[in-house]
Amino acid sequence: MTPFIRLSPIEKTMKALKDRIIKDGRCFPGGILKVDNFINHQMDPILMKSMAVEFVRRFASTKINKVLTVEASGIAGALTTAIACGNIPVVFAKKSRTRNVTGDVYESRVFSFTHGVENHIHVSKQYLPKGAKVLIVDDFLANGEAAEGLCELCRQAGAQVVGIGVCVEKSFQPGHQKLAEAGYRVHALAKVTGIQDGKLIVED
Ligand code: 5GP
Repeated sequence: MTPFIRLSPIEKTMKALKDRIIKDGRCFPGGILKVDNFINHQMDPILMKSMAVEFVRRFASTKINKVLTVEASGIAGALTTAIACGNIPVVFAKKSRTRNVTGDVYESRVFSFTHGVENHIHVSKQYLPKGAKVLIVDDFLANGEAAEGLCELCRQAGAQVVGIGVCVEKSFQPGHQKLAEAGYRVHALAKVTGIQDGKLIVED
């Protein structure tokens, strides 16, 4: 007989995310994962809300007064997290192919893993004040380019990155290690460790 194991609400969230990735996640050439029917195109509000609550739990020891992400796919998770943090402001960096020259923005360069192009990301200086305590949230972590670009915006602003939370980490790419070595506190809610026969392998 299988023993009955009672899961805590947190464990249930993580199990739901893992099960969903295994059931609905798809893998494309070049190691690109699609989670389009619950995070990246259609969104599952219960799962999104649970992930936000879990980010708040993981960073509970830290004061956060701003959530920062990059458009477009990070916005939903960042917004739900900002609500779960007690309705703090959420800012998303905007992308453009060309440099912004007006001087009223912080700007950095990010190479897009999924699109294979370099973007200049920027935020208005007024939305990232000096001394802000920033939690960075994104949907995926792969090579760490997007998160590094967001950290660079915070560095220019004199804001403090208190942590980086990602819904899905691809542990077979070096992003987490690079960010951790640079001294950032990184939490991934699910870790895809590899792909076997077209199936995603998710860490327990
Ligand atoms: P990184 O900058 O860490 O290489 O990649 C993270 C960013 O690229 C995220 O903002 C995410 O939107 C996108 N990304 C990276 N890998 C994937 C992937 O496998 N699937 C999807 N849907 N997006 C990805």
